[in-house]
Order: sequence, then C-alpha cells, then structure tokens
Amino acid sequence: MRVIKADEITKVVKQLALDANHDIGESFIDLLRRKIKEEKSGIGRSVLEQIVENDEIARTENRPMCQDTGLIVCLVEVGYDVHIQGDLYEAINEGVRQAYDEGLLRKSVVKHPLKRENTNDNTPAITHVKLVSGDKIKITLAPKGGGSENMSLVKMLTPAEGIQDIKDLVLHTIFYAGGKPCPPLVVGIGIGGNLEKSALIAKEAIFREIDDVNPDPILDQLERELLQEINELGVGPMGFGGTTTALAVKINAYPCHIASLPVAINLQCHASRHKTEVI
Ligand code: SF4
Repeated sequence: MRVIKADEITKVVKQLALDANHDIGESFIDLLRRKIKEEKSGIGRSVLEQIVENDEIARTENRPMCQDTGLIVCLVEVGYDVHIQGDLYEAINEGVRQAYDEGLLRKSVVKHPLKRENTNDNTPAITHVKLVSGDKIKITLAPKGGGSENMSLVKMLTPAEGIQDIKDLVLHTIFYAGGKPCPPLVVGIGIGGNLEKSALIAKEAIFREIDDVNPDPILDQLERELLQEINELGVGPMGFGGTTTALAVKINAYPCHIASLPVAINLQCHASRHKTEVI
C-alpha cells in the first residue's frame, strides 16, 4: 500500500489550477491557428486572431486567459493500492484556495445558490472520484467557465428517438445559445447511462485530448457529422457569424435502461482549459 499525503495532493492541485488558467496548451493554440486560415468570415477570422493573441499573452505573462477563472472541476482516479493520509476533498480544496489567492484569480463560487454569498476562495471544487487499479493518483483539473456551462443541458429522450433526434437536440442547443457560451466550442456529449451518468460522461468528454479519435466507429462518425453540421449553423467565433462554431465534438456513451435514451450536452468555451498530473 502506497501512502500519499494530503499535502502532496494540495501542492499538485495548486499548480494545476494556476497552469490551467494561464496556459491552454500548444496543440489547442495550433488548432485555433489552423482555423484562422479556414474561417470564411472576416470578422470570424479577426475574433480567432484575438483569441490566439490573448492565449499567447496569457501563457507568456502568466495571466489568466479569461476573466472568468471558473469553478474547478477535478476528475480524480485513485489506485486501489493507495492510502491517502488526510482528506482528499479538503486537500483539493486547499490547493484551489492557495492557487486562487496567490494567483490573484477571480473567485467565482457562492456558498448557497439562493443566498449568493461568495465563498471568497473559489471553493468547493466539484470533485469526481473513480477507483482504478494501481498505486497512483491521477488528477485532471479544469476551471470551468459559467457562460458555457449555463448553455449545457440534459434531456431524457426515448428509445423511439434516435441519432437524428440527438443531432437535432445538439444543433438546436448550439444555435440558440449563439455567442453566450463563447464559441468556438468543444462540445461534450454523453449518451446513455441515466440522468447523472449522462452528464458526467459528457463532462469527461470535454476533458478528452482535442485531437483524439473515438475508438467506437459509430460515435466517431457521429462526432464528425455533428462537427460539420454545427459549423454549418453560421454562429461563428463569439457568435459574430462564421464557419468556426465548434473546434471538436466529443461523444462518450454508456449502457442504459431499455426505456431510456438520456443525452447530455456539456458545452466548453474556447477557454478550454484542463491539466493533468499523476502522483
Ligand atoms: S464562457 Fe469561457 S470564454 Fe466565456 S467568459 Fe466564461 S470562461 Fe471566459
């Protein structure tokens, strides 16, 4: 049994939160640069150029890439052979607290959804834990923006509905969201499971590598078709019109009840920030 102290987890989370806010990563900026060349609208190209410039300044000057520094979401894989000395959830929250304090990042969390009083330290994080084999802890952290999260949804379709109905739901959601989720988007979709599982796998979908390929051929084809159809909607970068409304569509699926077809759509804005570390 490997012992991992809560302090180590705090240290890692603090750095991940700072890095995620400052550095969107080379592969993501490369993709945006390619999209500038492909974008058909002049104003769309101009917006993409400003996003790239903004992301480059954030990386080189260690500044947050967006004023909305997000609600922290952590996907944590804990090995069966790990003993955590301390409280995992509090260790994560302490890392978030330190990062948002020392990094002068905006605190965007309220204590109670109806009283709306700020917690003043950006905690608590939303932490999802999965038990896996091994003696390590893998933490993937994302500061999730409110604008894109607000345009996300879960809909319980019926098995009588099918791929076209799922597509219609996705296209309708993105079209009517317009510029609010700050496109170009990464569109995370969860199909199957139940109410909460579909939302969780949609969230996990936006954490996937931007250039990965879905191993399921049906989902791979659906991702490609939806990406093309979303970009034909004309919403464009920041909703000003254009051909780059989404950068990627990522779909995860899970077994479900014979009577159900849950579909969750989790929109991720162009500030598609997430970082991973293994302890
Ligand atoms: S949705 Fe994203 S890009 Fe828009 S304000 Fe929020 S974090 Fe920033």
